Amino acid sequence: MPRKVSIFGATGSIGQSTLDLIARDPSAYDVVALTGGRNLDQLAADAVRLGAKRAVTCYDSHYHDLKNRLSGTGIEVAAGANALEDAAMMPADWTMSAIIGAAGLVPGMRALEQGNTLALANKETLVCAGPLVLEQAQKHNATLMPVDSEHSAVFQALVGEDISAVERIIITASGGAFRDWPMDKLANATLAQASSHPNWDMGQRITIDSASMFNKALEVIETHEYFDVTPDQIEVLVHPESMVHALVGFNDGALMAHLGAPDMRHAIGYALNHPNREKLPVERLDLAKLGALTFKAPDEVRYPALRLARQVMDMGGLAGAAFNAAKERALDAFIAGDIGFLQMADVVEATLAQMSSADGLENATLSLDNVLQIDQLARVRAAEIMNTSLV
Ligand code: NAD
Ligand code: MG
Repeated sequence: MPRKVSIFGATGSIGQSTLDLIARDPSAYDVVALTGGRNLDQLAADAVRLGAKRAVTCYDSHYHDLKNRLSGTGIEVAAGANALEDAAMMPADWTMSAIIGAAGLVPGMRALEQGNTLALANKETLVCAGPLVLEQAQKHNATLMPVDSEHSAVFQALVGEDISAVERIIITASGGAFRDWPMDKLANATLAQASSHPNWDMGQRITIDSASMFNKALEVIETHEYFDVTPDQIEVLVHPESMVHALVGFNDGALMAHLGAPDMRHAIGYALNHPNREKLPVERLDLAKLGALTFKAPDEVRYPALRLARQVMDMGGLAGAAFNAAKERALDAFIAGDIGFLQMADVVEATLAQMSSADGLENATLSLDNVLQIDQLARVRAAEIMNTSLV
């Protein structure tokens, strides 16, 4: 029997890599829902090519465009945030959560209600609402598979191990586009420069987040939420080659490393085939040819986002949701050319400080409604901070 699969964020970088794997073995899968945003050509073409039951754009205004593109195909068409939730409730054995940003949270929570597998590329889901998401998975007997390369690597290093035997988890970071830039040049880094990653081919937003290390900051929090380790057990190591994705250190001093070429189809394929390991179309590493792998400690002056991640974990409560939303808003502003590269961290730090005193982030109850409210409020606060030039 083919497995029923749905892909949220199908038109994005992770979504396309997921479809690549699925399309290699079409008889093994029944594609239920594919979702996207503005790239209707891609969404419609993939829906037809893979015989999806439903195609959904997250924008209401694109409904008719998508409907026209798919007329006569028999593929159901829907649009808007509610349509994403509805699509998440269509029965599927395996769902990929690859929407970018906090917008992935609600569809992911819905998909978990089915009690099947949710492959989670959308790290924001855990950053904003980690305990709620794990509780939801447990309540419905669903499986949550990490797809971030570092977290997939940790997951794989932990197979057959007990988390109580873990001393530390080390996730690696390439250092992004600016790892070799002198600090005084960073303030003037342009959008084009921040949008080009030395090793990974990813969506624009996560590429910029890699240059600022906000991506790694989110991943530190994601590690804390997913693997139930304390913040001081999590380390970040700059590793420019992006071949070692993570290492798990055990009580006896042993370190288990996961290596692979920087290709997200590895982590996606692992989540898709788990607990089996099927052949994947990824490059095989030739370590002799590589010769050496290098590591160094990250510089928290260069990357204030890492310091902020520690602060967020200490704060707890709704701090993760506020942090992520402020970061998303600051990133919008950087992309729009309204603030400089280094100001993103300033905006996020100022937003957290203000919301900590004014909105009681730390002590608020973690509920989905509260997370969504704080998400909206943090975007407003971050915008106010930018408007009043507090940064
Ligand atoms: P992307 O920007 O390439 O694609 C994002 C997808 O989400 C697109 O299909 C887009 O249409 C959709 N989308 C955008 N805004 C939306 C909204 N408001 N509501 C619903 N759908 C929306 O992003 P990506 O690089 O593929 O990243 C997706 C997720 O995977 C992110 O959470 C990212 O952090 C994570 N991730 C990505 C990579 C990577 O290599 N790209 C690696 C690890 C983790
Ligand atoms: Mg990652």
